Amino acid sequence: MKGKIAYIPAGHQIEFHEYDVPAPPAGGLVASVTQTNVCGSEVHMWKGEFGRRGIMPGHEMSGRIHALGAGVSADFAGTPVREGDRIAPVYYTVCNRCVNCVAGNHAACIAKTLGARHPDEPPHFTATFATHYVIKPGQNFYKVPDNVPDAVASAANCAMSQVYWSLDRGRLAYGETVVVLGAGGLGLHAMAIAKARGARVIAVDSFDLRLKQARRFGADETVDMREYPDAESREKRVRELCHGWPDMVLEVAGVPDAFLEAMRMVRIGGRVIEVGNISNALTVTIPPSMVTFKSLEVIGVATYPPHYLKKSLDFLATHIDRYPYRELCDATFPLARAAEALDRSERREITRAGLLPQEG
Ligand SMILES: [Zn+2]
Ligand SMILES: [Zn+2]
Repeated sequence: MKGKIAYIPAGHQIEFHEYDVPAPPAGGLVASVTQTNVCGSEVHMWKGEFGRRGIMPGHEMSGRIHALGAGVSADFAGTPVREGDRIAPVYYTVCNRCVNCVAGNHAACIAKTLGARHPDEPPHFTATFATHYVIKPGQNFYKVPDNVPDAVASAANCAMSQVYWSLDRGRLAYGETVVVLGAGGLGLHAMAIAKARGARVIAVDSFDLRLKQARRFGADETVDMREYPDAESREKRVRELCHGWPDMVLEVAGVPDAFLEAMRMVRIGGRVIEVGNISNALTVTIPPSMVTFKSLEVIGVATYPPHYLKKSLDFLATHIDRYPYRELCDATFPLARAAEALDRSERREITRAGLLPQEG
């Protein structure tokens, strides 16, 4: 059986490579990908911001078990699994042996393994813009709850787990106010979880669709960047809405200026969570004294502890009818039209594009 996988050799270019679908590794499995999403990182890849070497796109997926490897009979929560079951994997594997893993901080594993750089490397299917995906031994995967459709489950990893962990890292408590800079996939998931735990949520964005979505995903207030075009006016507006200062600012806009804005906006002694900026080439000038004098906590979140995918799937199962999760993925494309999905995501015409590799 043959499968296909995408490769981005340079910005705004995509190729599809074909290989035999490998046998499942002992302790792992091969999944058929039913849905994979265009996350922010794929848009950065598409723009060529990951340097001159090519890259394999795709890390958010849901799928079905195509073939189980020897010794695998349950997911990482102990739920029995069989071929054909719907599952979602964490897109990286932690080592369990490095200084951070040993200390219990798996989110900061310094030896985590991701997919290969080029699909020619066996087992070929190590990124998710593909018909198939190989889950390695030791790589967490979970059965998807029956009431959570593939389109929703695919976003649990990474967008949702990432912000779930971010809010926990920042210790967001009942009754606190959080400002979410950026109402894309990460931002909307953060708003829903923050709201469900009793926080007041303020969303900042500049697109009508995103601001509307923010309200439906739990934002109590929205700040339209077209109405408040500079950082100072937005800070002032947020203070009016808070009758004070926000306790936490979550940066998921992915532009360097937003990091500075988050530090300026948050209250003295507040927490800034940096998630959105992932391009080494992009910089901003920051006065370190602001961190000092405001006694800020600045927390960076690159990945989450693998078990957060299970927490996210459980949250979805409980809140699937409270928030419009089914509409979050607002455009789907066959795998062959990935370029169009990436272009339209780059232009922010769609919130979350999904690819359906088993179709067409
Ligand atoms: Zn580790
Ligand atoms: Zn992602």
